[in-house]
Amino acid sequence: MKKLIFATNNKHKLEEIRAIVGNHYKLLSLSDINFSGEIPETSPTIAENAIQKARYILDLYAGNCFADDTGLEVDALNGAPGVYSARYAGENATYAENVNKLLHELHGIKNRKACFKTVIALFLEEQLYQFEGKICGTITTETSGESGFGYDPVFLPDGYQQTFAEMDASLKNKISHRAIASQKLIQFLQKQ
Ligand code: IMP
Repeated sequence: MKKLIFATNNKHKLEEIRAIVGNHYKLLSLSDINFSGEIPETSPTIAENAIQKARYILDLYAGNCFADDTGLEVDALNGAPGVYSARYAGENATYAENVNKLLHELHGIKNRKACFKTVIALFLEEQLYQFEGKICGTITTETSGESGFGYDPVFLPDGYQQTFAEMDASLKNKISHRAIASQKLIQFLQKQ
């Protein structure tokens, strides 16, 4: 069976994709290949960061691999925090600190439109493929809900009455940016 490395240590993400492509590929995580270092993520865009992470693993292991990167792009902030979503309030910022900074920056601003974007970069037989998933909505004025992580408590997806953090995880995982990008990747892999 062909091997495919997913440049992640997130077990949840790994199991989700493994369950679907497991018949076609032997999906390996970073710990499966005994990689325990940090993968650099220093690129200026979400797509380039995903490519940078996948290429890093490709260069080290010379095998088929993919990586994902996600950011929240807020219209009124010209796309910020974007690629800096994890460290919006500073290096090692907590989710709560990032959310508070976002609410502070948007204080009094009417246009609260924002989109989550995930890009998956895949190197298959050294050829690069990219898959994008996007979901748009609005940033609420205060946090609501306890589930999920990151900016979930302030993200209200278009067409829904609940923030990502108020939603059942199974619903979020069906409609999210990451779900859309993962489905595109899976459909592509199933055709190979
Ligand atoms: P990553 O590239 O998946 O590590 O995501 C970068 C940052 O984006 C995370 O640290 C979170 O702050 C934010 N983020 C990514 N995905 C989500 C999500 O599904 N909900 C809320 N925040 C997210």
